[in-house]
Amino acid sequence: MAKIRIAIVGLGKIARDQHLPALAASDAFELVGVASPHSALEAVPSFKDLEGLLQAVPDVDAVALCTTPQVRFDIASFALQRGLHVLLEKPPGATVSEVIALEKLANDSQVTLFASWHSRHAAAVEPAREWLASRPIRSVTVNWKEDVRVWHPGQAWIWKAGGLGVFDPGINALSILTRILAEPLVLQRAELRFPGNCQTPIAASLQFSGATRMELDFLYPGPPCWDIEVATDTQRLHLSKGGSEMKLDGALVSLPAGAEYPRLYAHFADLVRRNCSDVDVAPLQLVADAFLNGERVEVAAFNE
Ligand code: NAP
Repeated sequence: MAKIRIAIVGLGKIARDQHLPALAASDAFELVGVASPHSALEAVPSFKDLEGLLQAVPDVDAVALCTTPQVRFDIASFALQRGLHVLLEKPPGATVSEVIALEKLANDSQVTLFASWHSRHAAAVEPAREWLASRPIRSVTVNWKEDVRVWHPGQAWIWKAGGLGVFDPGINALSILTRILAEPLVLQRAELRFPGNCQTPIAASLQFSGATRMELDFLYPGPPCWDIEVATDTQRLHLSKGGSEMKLDGALVSLPAGAEYPRLYAHFADLVRRNCSDVDVAPLQLVADAFLNGERVEVAAFNE
């Protein structure tokens, strides 16, 4: 089967850390170009923007948009209109309405749109979903805490409107929750803590339906804590390390081998071959609800 000729748009941290290695190891894709305003690869034709890339590189089938969220909509619209299959890094847009418009455009253009949520491809997520499917849930506790200075050094876009602040990692937890829980989550209360000099929050506490509580902290020192604990009527399920480890009542569960991004690209290849899309706005919708309905508290200014 012919490989899918793909270009990466936005050659930043996640493109280099995850997309390039996953594509290099994939039998389904061939990386044919990169478009990024200030960054380039030596071994792959590189251009300042997607338009320039498409003029120079023939027969591009697909693009992976690894840009900051604020610029993704225009580039995705352009790519879909040109008949390309599109993979969106998370979050799929700066607003929910952008993503809904892109889904319609992909449908009209009869190409694949994959609004990816990389954490959903972590090893424990599908086993947790299956284990929980038949069990009544008593409560869910999420602690998603990391040090922004370690994990996002110099990324000023996170603090600008559309950058999500602490919800940039926090939306990963929501992408797992909305996959493993059978019932939809409804936001009941939220407190968002904004540094005086930022447009996005640095910490948040959220309460959802189903006795689901979530604590987000972007100034958490030491090793990160990316944990979800679900109490059922009999046992406790614990997902840690961002969904890559699973325990039942403290005992480790053996999980399938493999990593998030190779699985994510295998799913994208499958969607392209079947000519379908995978677009779930639920995690972004919950973040939007927190911004809509959360109480806003001002905290100390953030300086790197
Ligand atoms: P980053 O290191 O700041 O990289 C963002 C890239 O976007 C930059 O390289 C920049 O290109 C590019 N860009 C900006 N405007 C552009 C435009 N108009 N056209 C093309 N490219 C443009 O950020 P990141 O950490 O990679 O995050 C990017 C996205 O991936 C975010 O949505 C984030 O939530 C998601 N993500 C990040 C991580 C992580 O661990 N960092 C993990 C999973 C997902 P230039 O360098 O050429 O200026």
